[in-house]
Amino acid sequence: QVAEEEIGSDEWKLNQKQKNVSFGKRTSMSMKEQRESLPVFKMRDELLRAIHENQFIVIVGETGSGKTTQLTQYLNEDGFARDGIIACTQPRRVAATSVAKRVSEEMGVKLGEEVGYTVRFDDKTSPRTQIKYMTDGMLQREAIKDPDMSQYSVVMLDEAHERTIATDILFALLKKAASRRPDLKIIATSATLNAKKFSTYFNDCPVVNIPGRTFQVEKLFSSQPVMDYLLASLDAIMKIHLEEPKGDILVFLTGQEEIETSIQVLEEKIKNFGDTIPELIILPVYSALPSEMQSRIFEPTPKGSRKVILATNIAETSLTIDGIYYVIDPGFAKINAYDAKLGMDSLVVRPISQAQANQRAGRAGRTGPGKCFRLYTELAFKNEMLPNTIPEIQRQNLSNTILMLKAIGINDLLNFEFMDPPSKESIMLSLNDLYFLGAVDQDSRITKIGRNLVNIPADPTISKTLIESIHYRCSDEMITVFAMVSTPNIFHRPKKEQELADKKKARFTHPHGDHLTYLNIYNAWVNNGYSKTWCEDNFIQERSLKRARDIRNQLLQIFKRVKYPILSCGADTNAVRKALCSGFFKNIAKRDREGSYKTLAEGTVVYIHPSSSIRSSPQYVLYNSILNTTKEYLVHVTIIEPHWLVEVSPDFFEINGKQTEAKKQSEKINPLFNRFNRDQNHWRLSKPFHSTK
Ligand code: ADP
Ligand code: MG
Repeated sequence: QVAEEEIGSDEWKLNQKQKNVSFGKRTSMSMKEQRESLPVFKMRDELLRAIHENQFIVIVGETGSGKTTQLTQYLNEDGFARDGIIACTQPRRVAATSVAKRVSEEMGVKLGEEVGYTVRFDDKTSPRTQIKYMTDGMLQREAIKDPDMSQYSVVMLDEAHERTIATDILFALLKKAASRRPDLKIIATSATLNAKKFSTYFNDCPVVNIPGRTFQVEKLFSSQPVMDYLLASLDAIMKIHLEEPKGDILVFLTGQEEIETSIQVLEEKIKNFGDTIPELIILPVYSALPSEMQSRIFEPTPKGSRKVILATNIAETSLTIDGIYYVIDPGFAKINAYDAKLGMDSLVVRPISQAQANQRAGRAGRTGPGKCFRLYTELAFKNEMLPNTIPEIQRQNLSNTILMLKAIGINDLLNFEFMDPPSKESIMLSLNDLYFLGAVDQDSRITKIGRNLVNIPADPTISKTLIESIHYRCSDEMITVFAMVSTPNIFHRPKKEQELADKKKARFTHPHGDHLTYLNIYNAWVNNGYSKTWCEDNFIQERSLKRARDIRNQLLQIFKRVKYPILSCGADTNAVRKALCSGFFKNIAKRDREGSYKTLAEGTVVYIHPSSSIRSSPQYVLYNSILNTTKEYLVHVTIIEPHWLVEVSPDFFEINGKQTEAKKQSEKINPLFNRFNRDQNHWRLSKPFHSTK
């Protein structure tokens, strides 16, 4: 009924011309009215009753029905916070922070007091916190120290349909905790209807549906396959803006770069029209976007103009934006998946599933009947898209997860209660990685090194590098390096001043590569008194450096807490490069032909990313990650000496022949991993971690 008040669906169809019907009306509602207008409000008492009567419960409701922002408040109003914190997990960091902010506003309290959030390297909670939004990864980490989750009275696993690894693992950990703690309540929420699986998992617990307030969305398929979905998206935006009645547009793109480029092109296009067309407000949304920019998408669109939001799949379910009448869906998303060719996870653009496509379309039907422009054919939808997205646990490297489980004391992975178990092969691969890092022994038991790695909230490779940097007396530098590497968007490269920006950047370039270049930049900022003008003069994003400083401070605190010394190597930056090898020894590439490299472990042809500060063509390089675009690009690259590898990981590398001069060695360095791939029996670890399939 509420929806009818806001915008009558008939009115929509009939009065195509006077489309200003109650746009922005919601904002004139009081906070209380707004809360009470959400579909979940009508279910408040029923939901609370169900939660009192059951230990587990699954709640299903359309995106925007009020699950994330309201349920925690209902629980709080009902007194649950007296017995412990009410936790709500989110797969995405942005969702955790933005929702916490919203809820603190609704409750009229200061963010970080009664309502707070905890995400990696950023904790806004206090001893008074009653409602805590957090990433699922953070709660998973907390389980290491407190498997009973004793701080919490309720844990709401939000967005469970996303099936992130951390949420999947939490399902199992919480089920165990609940058997020891009858007072603990577990709620799983899902935006999609396949909740049966969750209910079955939680001992056939009840499923409560929040009746949706959704309008019909007309789905329009492309009649022919689309060659360039970016171009097609831009065309579709312009077509809607020029031909369709009022209503905002949501476009699903795959990443920040794509979004930024599209915005530039779109702005040019709009400029050419001058004043002849209504205003089009263009806004980006992606996870790395600073939160003050993100909140702009929630501001109501001014009368007479239209908003177009270019978003990653973060807008699929995690964020609810009102006023969207048009969705443009190119049918792709960037996902993290294990790539056997590269021997590591990498970000790849893949077709979405049918479930995702329908979820995306649904975004257009929240405020009134909408339209979804699918930039793929109906045939492609039916034949090329999987019905459901593959859970992360079945497509990503599990080293981090397995190490964490082992730290909790869960060794028997084959009998662990996974909702969907990972393959034996993938468990074995991860165990191998952990073995070479020294984190598990030959019987796959966690070692002392492994326990140390868990202290640092990062991938085991990074944790290992940070800890090893103590031996190389450069932990101070390494902490800076990783604070910088973990921070996106350090550089600012405006289109009109690219040359100047590059010139400025070149002054910080370290001949040995990107990690040391980052170190130079951070130190220069420190030496200039954290100056904002210095950042502007040098085309560096101050905001990013501040974030790097936050991460650095957090890492320093962790080091202090576990009594790891902070040591500086001063000008001897070779120490940093050697220490990098101790964690990233698997990520080495050797020069192949002109300009190209081959990874040592898998022999895949790769290229140094053009943004790298390396201008020479060194023989051996170490890389942090691989970016899959037109080619396979190495990102964050540092030049190394091959004989260091044997020094840091004699298990992984062997040298054929005598260890004489470095040159000779470099020719003959041979990763054992290869040998393992060719002949499993030859490899001494093949037994414990060998798949039986
Ligand atoms: P769900 O979790 O069911 O998808 P939410 O609780 O996230 O729903 O959102 C409920 C409503 O709260 C949305 O429809 C939107 O109107 C409002 N809302 C949520 N987050 C914000 C925000 N950051 N700013 C303004 N409004 C918001
Ligand atoms: Mg939600």
